[in-house]
Amino acid sequence: MKDQAGRTIDYMRISLTDRCNLRCRYCMPHDIKKIEMSQLLNYEEIVVIAKCAVELGIVNFKLTGGEPLVRKNVPVLVEMLKAIPGVKTVTMTTNGTLLSSYAAELKKAGLDGINVSLDTLDADAFAKLTGHTFPLSSVLEGIKAVQQAEIPVKLNTVNRRDLDWKTILSYAKDQHLVVRFIEMMPIGYGKDYMGTSNEILFAQIQELYGTGIPVTERKGNGPAKYYRFENYPDEIGFISAIHHKFCDTCNRIRLSSEGYLKLCLCYEQGMDLRKLLRDGSSMKEIKAQMQQAIARKPLEHCFSEKEKMTETQVMAQIGG
Ligand code: SAM
Ligand code: SF4
Repeated sequence: MKDQAGRTIDYMRISLTDRCNLRCRYCMPHDIKKIEMSQLLNYEEIVVIAKCAVELGIVNFKLTGGEPLVRKNVPVLVEMLKAIPGVKTVTMTTNGTLLSSYAAELKKAGLDGINVSLDTLDADAFAKLTGHTFPLSSVLEGIKAVQQAEIPVKLNTVNRRDLDWKTILSYAKDQHLVVRFIEMMPIGYGKDYMGTSNEILFAQIQELYGTGIPVTERKGNGPAKYYRFENYPDEIGFISAIHHKFCDTCNRIRLSSEGYLKLCLCYEQGMDLRKLLRDGSSMKEIKAQMQQAIARKPLEHCFSEKEKMTETQVMAQIGG
């Protein structure tokens, strides 16, 4: 469907839980008050909302969290979503720590792709950055398992001030993985970790790997801009929400683990779909309410005028 700005909205991020087994400093460094399990949408409720979304033309879904794989039986949900007529892709973003146990089941369930978030390849730095819960090796084993299961996998790396991008790119080169560098956004604790811009990073990568040429073909459902560098084998993606605002082509909405339909990262504005579901509204009514809410999707984010931001949740509660 189109929103008030004429943008085609065809992508929904579904957060399965606010819980996470890591404590990334820029995302959820401390425990947060956990949402009670009874307040989370169950899988049947998620499927009802996904069916309404599909009827509105939203056909690509990304499972996120917190950490989506800490929720039980995620492959079952993947299978349920893939069985909805009209669904094009179901993908996931994960910290990778639990992937080695889940990769084969996720493949069987039909998952179309996985983004693994990986910010460093130094085991000590990883422990410091993610809260000393799971070792870096668990993520690296998870990536291998996904590759063995033949699920397409990409790396997501947040552009922090002390990012060692050279090691990330050299690991990705050896493992034949596409990397996307994401600019840190001033959401929650991210405000204190804003790194250099992707523009500066791009220039540094050019110095090492030669001229970067934009890839014109559209890749994936997201805002990443991909480039090919003369002396680097794979494409490299840049998601530059801060320094190259892409709001005019934004195609996404978010569903929180509690069933709140969120329209833009910056603002709290949205709609409580769980209430509609649990009050017994029909699918037709839910769909109509979703349509009205999505039509009013804000025109742009306001990261450069932080006083206008109304979102107070941390990224782990929003789902990235
Ligand atoms: N736990 C999963 C993971 O780490 O991929 C899914 C949830 S996590 C919130 C989704 C993505 O958001 C991760 O790639 C994470 O690095 C990114 N993220 C968290 N806080 C951020 C911020 N302030 N700015 C930009 N990206 C952020
Ligand atoms: Fe957890 Fe992902 Fe946030 Fe790290 S970025 S704390 S893994 S939700």
